Amino acid sequence: MEGFLVGVLGAALLGAWLWPKWRVRRALAQPLPAAQVAILARNVFQYGGMDEGQRRRLQRMVQQFLHEKKFVGCAGLELTDEVRVTIAAQACLLLLGRVGDTGKPAIYPTLDLILVYPGAFLAPRKQLDASGVVTEERQDLLGESWGDGRVILSWDHVRRAGHADASGHNVVLHEFAHQLDSESGNTNGAPYLGSSERYRSWSEVLSRDYANLRHEAMWGMQGVLDHYGATNPAEFFAVATESFFEQPHQLSARHPALYEEFLKYYRIDPRQWQAAPLPRVEEPLSYGPVYGQWR
Ligand SMILES: [Zn+2]
Repeated sequence: MEGFLVGVLGAALLGAWLWPKWRVRRALAQPLPAAQVAILARNVFQYGGMDEGQRRRLQRMVQQFLHEKKFVGCAGLELTDEVRVTIAAQACLLLLGRVGDTGKPAIYPTLDLILVYPGAFLAPRKQLDASGVVTEERQDLLGESWGDGRVILSWDHVRRAGHADASGHNVVLHEFAHQLDSESGNTNGAPYLGSSERYRSWSEVLSRDYANLRHEAMWGMQGVLDHYGATNPAEFFAVATESFFEQPHQLSARHPALYEEFLKYYRIDPRQWQAAPLPRVEEPLSYGPVYGQWR
């Protein structure tokens, strides 16, 4: 009798352990519904340039993302498939080259929750100055990434960023680059790279380009990278990631060493998804306003 009870208990425990795995496998085995594939084609312009293998891989990752992560609509936003699939697909773009074709890849393993607002949202800010004074202010934000497993996004800006003419800004790529950065334990502009040789090369190249961007920002000169990247090394990595996926031809022409580092890290070349811009005479850096709303 005792043996029987142990057997039943063991089977129940095994079932409880296998059940979630079975549910994930069953969800991933279903093809993405045609209506959701249409959302990828509409709101993720890179999808149009992908080969069949890349499209299938992205679709599987989107399914896994939707299955694993919880979305919450804030300030009255209705969470439609369009909202969830667009955010999932843009976030998974960053992982497309970093996971293999087989097995279940880890998709932002520490991320649980995506909060979506209809538009820019207000966030209270506390700032501590050198004399110890804390100032509180409220800022309009388009996106925010937290180390405790949360990302917050403005749907209005997500939707607009999915199109090829969106000027190189993409709030989803930006915030999920912060998520990748934080996986190394520190959000400091260096994601997990593996060998010390890779860290050395990364640090050398990114430090130089970061210093150059600070110089450009100080003098109001506008190159490929947004001046917000001059805020600190973590913002530099996030801003450069946006450019890598949104304006790869321009970034590789202006920052070839940086582009090489990102090719090694993301293990994919986004130039294959876009036609190169027509050759033209190299323009000098232009003067422009500092774009400073990303967080
Ligand atoms: Zn940021």
